[in-house]
Formats: sequence, C-alpha cells, structure tokens
Amino acid sequence: MKTRINPEKSGRVTITRQEHGISRTLMSPNALRVLYRLKDNGFVAYLVGGCVRDLLLGREPKDFDVVTNATPGEVKRMFSNCRLIGRRFRLAHIHFKVELIEVATFRSQAADEPEPGAVETRRGEQRQRRPQILKDDEGMILRDNVFGTPEEDALRRDFTVNALAYDIADFSIIDFAGGLADLDAGIIRTIGDPNVRFQEDPVRMLRAVRFAALLGFSMAEETRNALVTAAGTIVRASPPRLYEEMLKILLSGEGAKCCDLLHQTGLFTALFPFFSAWLNAESGGFPHTRFGEMLTCVDSRIQQGDTISPQLLLALLFGEYLDEKAENFRARGMPWQQSVDAATAEFLGEVCPFVQITSRVGSALRDIIAQQTRLTHIPGRRPQLFIARTDFTDIIAYSRIVHGNKKDVASRLQWWRVQAEQMEQEPLPLLSKSTEAAGAAPRKKRRRRRKPHGLQRATQ
Ligand code: ATP
Ligand code: MG
Repeated sequence: MKTRINPEKSGRVTITRQEHGISRTLMSPNALRVLYRLKDNGFVAYLVGGCVRDLLLGREPKDFDVVTNATPGEVKRMFSNCRLIGRRFRLAHIHFKVELIEVATFRSQAADEPEPGAVETRRGEQRQRRPQILKDDEGMILRDNVFGTPEEDALRRDFTVNALAYDIADFSIIDFAGGLADLDAGIIRTIGDPNVRFQEDPVRMLRAVRFAALLGFSMAEETRNALVTAAGTIVRASPPRLYEEMLKILLSGEGAKCCDLLHQTGLFTALFPFFSAWLNAESGGFPHTRFGEMLTCVDSRIQQGDTISPQLLLALLFGEYLDEKAENFRARGMPWQQSVDAATAEFLGEVCPFVQITSRVGSALRDIIAQQTRLTHIPGRRPQLFIARTDFTDIIAYSRIVHGNKKDVASRLQWWRVQAEQMEQEPLPLLSKSTEAAGAAPRKKRRRRRKPHGLQRATQ
C-alpha cells in the first residue's frame, strides 16, 4: 500500500479510494447507515480505530466505531434508536437489532488543556471552572472530555495504527499519526512520548501487548523500553478495568503469545505477584506446567470458534494453583469441600486487589473445582439434578480438558455424556413445564397449620 502526503494539511496523509482498495461490502451495513445519515445532515463522519486497522489488514473487525463533528445531542436528534450514555463524556449508542454502533464526537487530547480559568455564574459571582481534563499527581488521566478537531481526536488515541480514519465523504483513509507506515511495517507505536502515554493510562501497556501478539507485530523500540520501565505502574489502573483487559487478552486466541510478552516485560509479575512466584518455583521437584499447557489449549479452542466462559478460563489456568492450595489446607486437617472454599478465597484475596475478578465469576470458579468430586460418584444420588445445573457443561469441560487423557476419567465422562443425552430426550419432570404433563404424580401440598394466636405469642 502506497501512502500519499497531502501537502496542504501538515501531518495529514490521505490515501484515496482507488489506492487503498477497502470495499464497503466488508463494512457493517448499520455502520454505513449511520455514516451516511450523518453526512447527509451536513456533518463530518469517519469510521475510526480498530475497524479501519483491521480492514486494511484484511481481518474481520470486531466492532465499528464512528466519530463525527455532530454533538451527542445532534446525533440523538438524527436517530430515533439512539441512547446517550456517559455522564461526563457523552457517547451516542445507536441500537440495531443485533448490533450497536458507537458514535463519539471528536475529542481533544488531554495535554492540550489550558489552565482552567474562572467563569461567571448566573448570579454574577466568579467561580473556578471545573477542569475538563483532570490528571492525578502521577499524570494519570482521570477525566478527559473536551470536544476537538479530527486531528486532535486522532492524536489522543493510543497507537498510530489505531488512529486511522475512513472518511465517508470521499471513501479515503486519513492518517494523522503515521499509522499507515507502521501498519505496513508491522509496528505498534504509541502516538507521542510512550513514557507519557503509559503514565496517562497504564492499561495502554496491556493493549500494546494484545495488539502486538494478535496482529503479529513488533513493538517500536522506544515503546517497548518505556513499557518495560513502566510495567510496575500497571497496578495503578482500576482493578475492574484490568480484569476486563486480562479477559480480552486471555480470550483473544493468542493468550500464550500475550502471556510470553507479559512475562518478558514484567507486566505479568506486577499483575499476579503471588501466582507468578509460584509459577517460577517447583512443587516436589516438578515445575508447574499446566498453566502453559492450558493457555495453548484455550487458544486453539478460541481459534476454532469455541466460546469459553470466564470461570472455565480461570479454572483451567489457575486450577493447578488452586489444587495445591486446597491440598495444603487439607494437610492441616480441613475437610475436602471446605479446603476448596478456603483455597479459592485465598486466591481471590491475592488477585483481586490488582485484577478484580467479579464475585459472580469467583463463586462460579470455586464451584467448577468443588464439583469435580461429584463426577466420580456414579451414579450417585439423583444424577439428573447434577446434570441440570447451569454449570454442568463447564464442570465436565474442565474435567475433560485437564484430566481427559486418563483412562478412568475418560470412561466416567462417557457415562455422564450418555446420561446427559438421555436427559435431553427425557427432561427432568421437575424441570418440565408441568409435572403432570411429564407423567409424574403431582406432589401433594403440605398444609401448614397456623398456631392459635395466643399460643403464637406465648412461644415468642
Ligand atoms: P479491538 O476492538 O479489536 O479489540 P480496537 O482498537 O477497536 O481493538 P477498542 O477498545 O474497541 O479497540 O477501542 C477503539 C479505539 O479507541 C482504539 O482503536 C483506539 O483508537 C481508541 N482507544 C481505546 N482505548 C484507548 C486508550 N486506553 N487510550 C487511547 N485510545 C484508546
Ligand atoms: Mg474495537
């Protein structure tokens, strides 16, 4: 792909429709509808970010983001299926049947904000204006909500390859940050000084790793050096955000490559200090190999189009660690079930201050591990009830993936598979719409006798 500099606008490179060869048939029809409506109403409208990068690379974009010079209010007036979200920086979400298109108004770069001046209130008093961009003492952006120009909007983005825009007015690609050249060369490079950009938002370090692994790119030298220097500061990002980003990494289909990079750069140790120390040590003279094996296994499943729930993912990756913790509790005399609870609680206590696994996923993770013993009780009491559990498939998948190559486990799993298939044809009476319809005798209702009033009081 050849890039052509537009001499009239410095820093801006444009490649025309004939030169880039991206077809609109590869774009979401809904995103195109949004772009055309904005354009027809006289506004500038671009596709932007990851979708343009992916289209140029011949990859299928995950989502289509739109930027425009229309304000959120103007966007809302143009689309009846639009909801505005966000209190400080308002984004427009345009809802379609199975797709959501996000429309943002061009935003300005954080560093550009002048000192907030005084403003006059309606009563004529002087009041200090609330800064639109707020950074903490270490330069991390806490608030960032100023409208800007298309160029400012591009330059506030994280990496050069993520700052490309597709202009619906003439179908050209606009590049303000050198993204086209980096896309050609396969380089992840921050826009501006990487030290500052990682300080403003440490999550960008994880994004750099994810994009490098996923696209098969290398990091620009200065970007990588800054990342290694700043790796320890990753924990300044909010724990729920780090959890979301780690899920994206581990479910990207390139989790093993990402984790290699996270290890090499020091990010892994910073995010998972306890687990990382354990991983590097041995138990009983054996290295801990399951984590690496499971990463590869998860990657191949994702690449084949499988979905893996967050709890199953965590169970697969951290199961060996949890087993060892539970074993330690048992060695101190704790019963089996309790030892799994204690091991999970200890694990969550280590991880959540940095990477905040939600409590729902935490409990589901514990259940997957705790229910493994139930699989060994064949037939046990009421196997149908066990099969009817919502997490049955995760419990089975965990056993199959981790222990499925053992003969006894494989035959046990086969037994459960047959039971589950039978149940599919003959659902549990209790779970069917009506017990009578399923041929089972209706359960008699037990009448509760009310105590005489006086007696009730006397026993209180
Ligand atoms: P994908 O959706 O395939 O994971 P993406 O590049 O589209 O990749 P999104 O998280 O969807 O990533 O973000 C859309 C765009 O918003 C990015 O391409 C980038 O331009 C910008 N962006 C996202 N996160 C940041 C950030 N932390 N700092 C600066 N810009 C960001
Ligand atoms: Mg995206």
